[in-house]
Amino acid sequence: MESESIGTIRWTLKKSFVTGPIADIEHRLDDEDAFEHIRCPLCGWHPAPSSLWPCYAAGTPEAPFEGCGTTWNTFATRGRCPGCAHQWRWTTCLRCAGWSLHDEWYEESPRR
Ligand SMILES: [Zn+2]
Ligand SMILES: [Zn+2]
Repeated sequence: MESESIGTIRWTLKKSFVTGPIADIEHRLDDEDAFEHIRCPLCGWHPAPSSLWPCYAAGTPEAPFEGCGTTWNTFATRGRCPGCAHQWRWTTCLRCAGWSLHDEWYEESPRR
């Protein structure tokens, strides 16, 4: 079957090019639905997959460390900086600029 073999080739390419944690992050970034259950505990703002947070410790409630300056979507990695692997406990809101614990951004997914 022609179509079947093409499908197999595509799958094989995908497997070889897209592996490891980076692919996992990209996959989750593509998934808009994943962000529906994330909101600012203070103002209710929903981050978008394109929202970016910088790794700068200055002016944050985070324990002092050397921020590496990477910008990334912190919800794609559950608060872990891909630049220096620092696990952020706090996440700032890009709308109200308030600080909340990263875990508090995740809504208990209610069954609708
Ligand atoms: Zn907010
Ligand atoms: Zn960093």
